[in-house]
Parts: sequence; structure tokens; C-alpha cells
Amino acid sequence: MPKWTSAGTVKAAQNQSIKVLTSGTTTLTSENLTEVKNLVNKAVEILDVCDRVTANYDKLPKQVNEVARNFFVLDDDLTQDQLLEIRAVLTLTRNGLANPNGLNLKFGNFPPRSTGSTAGYVNVHSGKKAAVQSVVKRNWTRISRPTGTVYKGDIHINANKLGDFGAEATLIHEATHKFADTKDFDERGYTYSNSPKQFRDEGLTTEEAFQNAESYAQFFVHVWLNTEL
Ligand SMILES: [Zn+2]
Repeated sequence: MPKWTSAGTVKAAQNQSIKVLTSGTTTLTSENLTEVKNLVNKAVEILDVCDRVTANYDKLPKQVNEVARNFFVLDDDLTQDQLLEIRAVLTLTRNGLANPNGLNLKFGNFPPRSTGSTAGYVNVHSGKKAAVQSVVKRNWTRISRPTGTVYKGDIHINANKLGDFGAEATLIHEATHKFADTKDFDERGYTYSNSPKQFRDEGLTTEEAFQNAESYAQFFVHVWLNTEL
């Protein structure tokens, strides 16, 4: 288990304190801390724009359906229920990132996977010990599942991602894991950072897409990219 030490605290736009932690040889400059703040602000802004654009099912812009067909593997436009499902994840994720009680963000250099680098992760804790610890570590997020309660730990992001194109998608991806209990579906569910509109492997089903962290993250980012502000 790596040891995490504080690299500083920044205040983001919603007045939430972001505690930035690092481990091992990772060091962050004050410039990096500003990048962290900007990253959180940008992610919340992306989600706020998506919230606005998708608020009315009857007035859903065409581009929203186009993006949804791609990332949620749909043959048709979104149904009202599907939009509600997306908006539930959107709200949980947005409110988690803008939580007035603040947020821990951990930056490190993670060991690479066989298929590339690890952009980020969120640990899942369960059992009695986790329940007790979640009270002590207030940033563990309590999630109710049909199979029982689990707790989601802090958001970890690869330090190399800072200032990188796609960092917002990574933060939102991890935030949907933490706050909306989304999953990963390996190569079928991930996209390449230089080609984010395409899944790495074929075969993701629509049902899986609606649980897939990457589908949500890329949907939100692309709706935002395609919205004229
Ligand atoms: Zn993931």
C-alpha cells in the first residue's frame, strides 16, 4: 500500500476544498496544484453544461442523440428512461465533485497494465471494517447495492495525466465509479485517449454501456464539446 502525503489543498469554484495527495516519487508544484483546481472546475462545468442540454427530453438536441448512440451502443435515439438513467449518473457525479465537504484527489505513477498505462482508479471496500473506517475516513462514499453496502475510496489519477488532453474525461470516469457505482468492461468498455470515440474492442452491449464508466465520461465530454457555449 503506498503512503499518501498531502501536497496541498486548493479551493475549487464551488468553494469545495480539494485535498491533493501524492505518493512515492510523485511531486506536484504549485503550478500543478492550480492545474488540479482547473481540472475539477472544468469537470464540473462539463457536467453542468450536460445537465442544461439534456434537461428536456422533448427538446433533446440531435447531437446528444448522436453521441448517445455511439457511447451507449444504441440503434435508435435515447428513450426517456435511458435519458433519466444518464441524468441520474450525471447528478451523482456532479454533486460528488462539487461536494461542499470537499474531495481527496490522489496523484501517483501507477504501474502500467498490459494494454497501456493506468489513467486512474477507485478502490472498493466492503464489510464491517469498511463501515467503521468510512466514518473515520469521511471521503469514503457509501453505495447501496442489491448485494449489500460497499464504500468507494478516493479518486486516484495518474500524475502524468495532469495538464494532458483527456484529463477531464479521466476525472469524470473515476468520479462516476466513486459516486454512481459504475463499472469497467475491459477493452470493450475503454476508449483510446487519442481516439476517444471508439471502443478498443468490439462487443460492449447496450446494457453494459449503461453501467460503463467510460461510456458516461465520453458521453458527457462529447456533449459538452459539441455544445456551443
Ligand atoms: Zn474505470
